[in-house]
Amino acid sequence: MDRRPLVRVDGTLVRVPGFVSAHSHAFQFGLRGNTQRTPRATGDFWSWREAMYRLATVLTPESLARVSRRAFEALRRAGVVCVGEFHYLHHQADGTPYEDRTLLADVVLQAALDAGLRVTLLRAAYARAGHGRGPEPGPRRFCDPSPDHVLRDLDTLRARWQGNPRVRFGLAPHSVRAVPADWLKPLHDYAKMHRLPFHMHVAEVQAEVDACLAEHGRRPVELLAERGVLDARFVAVHGTNLTATEARLLGEAGAFVCACPTTERDLGDGLADLSALRGAGVRLCTGIDSHVVTDPVEELRALELHERLRLRRRVTFEPPEGRTPAEQLLLEGSAVGAQALGWPCAVDAGGTTWRPSTVLDRTHPALEAVPTEALADALVFSGGACCVVGVEG
Ligand SMILES: [Zn+2]
Repeated sequence: MDRRPLVRVDGTLVRVPGFVSAHSHAFQFGLRGNTQRTPRATGDFWSWREAMYRLATVLTPESLARVSRRAFEALRRAGVVCVGEFHYLHHQADGTPYEDRTLLADVVLQAALDAGLRVTLLRAAYARAGHGRGPEPGPRRFCDPSPDHVLRDLDTLRARWQGNPRVRFGLAPHSVRAVPADWLKPLHDYAKMHRLPFHMHVAEVQAEVDACLAEHGRRPVELLAERGVLDARFVAVHGTNLTATEARLLGEAGAFVCACPTTERDLGDGLADLSALRGAGVRLCTGIDSHVVTDPVEELRALELHERLRLRRRVTFEPPEGRTPAEQLLLEGSAVGAQALGWPCAVDAGGTTWRPSTVLDRTHPALEAVPTEALADALVFSGGACCVVGVEG
């Protein structure tokens, strides 16, 4: 295990491993303030999704560039150094591809770079509204007719951005709802061949699980295991409605779960059984997802505090190898997230300081009266993006 100290104090500055948001949809930053009243806020995830579709339908390359830049600049100000952008806005509003098919992906990548971030663009595959249903009007621009179209676009993007050290790629079949099961193998074969991360939304809401059971006679992670796509490059986003068996399948594969607790609580998705996931050896990381809140520390705090509420007890896990719970959470919000996005680690090999790093203000009220050995605890449980003064590296 890496024994470098996670927290380094230098005068009035504190450095911690750079925060990583492993799951983001930057354009959803434009939904802020627009989904918290009825009727849009009634119901559940599905009513919110209608508002998201409305926004997705009207975005142009120019307005997508603007909203993405705002979202990424907010991430950077909050101390994030690297983002996984789960990108599913591909085509014009009626579904016709742009003349330059990857225009919107290029726009989002440039916005991330302009904001000073490293980025893994997770090129999403999306085919249908659900079993036996074609694309709905809203998501027409997300859809491709075949996995080949997805992979050709990814070939284009990888060639176009080759040599940029701040850009990486991954593949992201949207979900078992939006992608037919026979797309999974060709997409996963490509990811394996090119050593790319492979992300999917998994079991965010119970209705998705029920639909998977109805279509395939098995739960989402059971289906994914059967199709051979679970491995150490697999990242299940959310995992809010998994059984212990599914947690075990993910753990045995060495897979990740990317929890997005501020989004999951905003949408009323439910609470993941993090204890089952941790117990099964699943690697946990976090994502800002819908950008309802831009605070990577709040994601880490929520990860643990939601589990305390669910279990009605205090510290809910035993951190591995002598770390404190707060230090383990900081690792999950940095190095583990970076690994889930295909970066070697959130740290340059050989040094004694984590790079890139997030720099905090030691004199912030959340940290100032705290002894050095308790700074990680104070940051995670009492601080937040409000303590961040910048990033380095
Ligand atoms: Zn998502």
